[in-house]
Amino acid sequence: MAGLGDVRSGLEDFYRDLHAHPELGHQEHRTAARVARHLRTCGYEVHDGIGGTGVVGVLANGDGPVVLLRADMDALPVREETGLPYAATARAEDATGREVPVAHACGHDMHVTCLLGAARLMSSARGAWRGTLLALFQPAEEPGDGADGMLADGLTGLVPRPEAAFAQHVLPCPAGRVGTREGAFLSAADNIAITVHGRGAHGSAPQAAIDPVVMAAMIVVRLQTIVSREQAATRPVVLTVGSVQAGTSGNVIPESAELLVNVRTYGEATRQEVLAAVRRIVRAECAASGATREPRVEEGTRFPPTVNDAVVTREVAAAFTEAFGTRAGTAEPQSASEDFSRVPDAFGIPYTYWALGCVDPDTYEAARRRGSVARDIPVNHSPRFAPVLQPTLDTGVRALVAAALTRLARLEHGRA
Ligand code: ZN
Ligand code: ZN
Repeated sequence: MAGLGDVRSGLEDFYRDLHAHPELGHQEHRTAARVARHLRTCGYEVHDGIGGTGVVGVLANGDGPVVLLRADMDALPVREETGLPYAATARAEDATGREVPVAHACGHDMHVTCLLGAARLMSSARGAWRGTLLALFQPAEEPGDGADGMLADGLTGLVPRPEAAFAQHVLPCPAGRVGTREGAFLSAADNIAITVHGRGAHGSAPQAAIDPVVMAAMIVVRLQTIVSREQAATRPVVLTVGSVQAGTSGNVIPESAELLVNVRTYGEATRQEVLAAVRRIVRAECAASGATREPRVEEGTRFPPTVNDAVVTREVAAAFTEAFGTRAGTAEPQSASEDFSRVPDAFGIPYTYWALGCVDPDTYEAARRRGSVARDIPVNHSPRFAPVLQPTLDTGVRALVAAALTRLARLEHGRA
């Protein structure tokens, strides 16, 4: 693409700097300031401080369609172990006031840099398209409330209504590749906090207790039957009990136990069935143990499903094939979740979300031949996860531009 060669080394510097300076969700002040400055330099009207640290650049370029491109900006409480020369050593206070290490272990620094690159190229190519481009930089994707925060702060009234929205995410597949799919792409996620109440006693006298540890253990096992016995094999569900907390001593039966459960589903009906089954099993196991107090089942952070629009996705897939040839393909559904769809849903518009490969292709191929991809290729959120800078960056920039032009170029050139 014309122009990418001129901006590549500046973008690479920007990326390395951003990677070395990660910020947790809702704390992306340095990142947002640099994004806003860069957008202004490229001629965008900039709205910042939306929902805290959110930024939107608006490039109005005559009558025509409005298109939204989105990147998320936040990092994770992870200690980076990539060994990269630009690895992060940052620490920060998390939302609970605890000091934690911080790293871009999900690759959102790559999303930010790719979108800035696309924003710059679209600005320098203003003569080739008509319409309005919105470049949206969202805070706090990992905690799940960044998109909601921007919407609550009036995003939809601040910028013109787009007709389609696009976003991408780096995933551990070969760099240079992009993949999308029509329909359900990312699962919905529900977090559930469960407290079961027993009766504490001396560890030597279980007859005097109602043991919440046994109750919790039964619940952990029984919950697995929702996936294996209640749902059809053709309807994928993931249910993970990620935390079990009870007691402090081997000789004390505690009063209560707490479980944190994470559920991933691909459709609202399935989601409702699974959540109802969780409640039923928790209540029934407590009753089976003779608990005298009802358990508490609280729904926490929730991520919506990401369901790509068929028409828009077909157009983007065709544009990717034109841009990348055989390096463009169909992605498998992922049991990960995103809050991206909240923005297009709030505007009532279709969207496409795609996977951007980020692993050195030779490293990936060697692992594939050994049959050790799952073991040897670090996944998102791993301390060893980091995208290979190129060709990930070039591909991500070109993918965003190609997707935007499926809509913006239509008036100018009369083609999809
Ligand atoms: Zn993540
Ligand atoms: Zn992510």
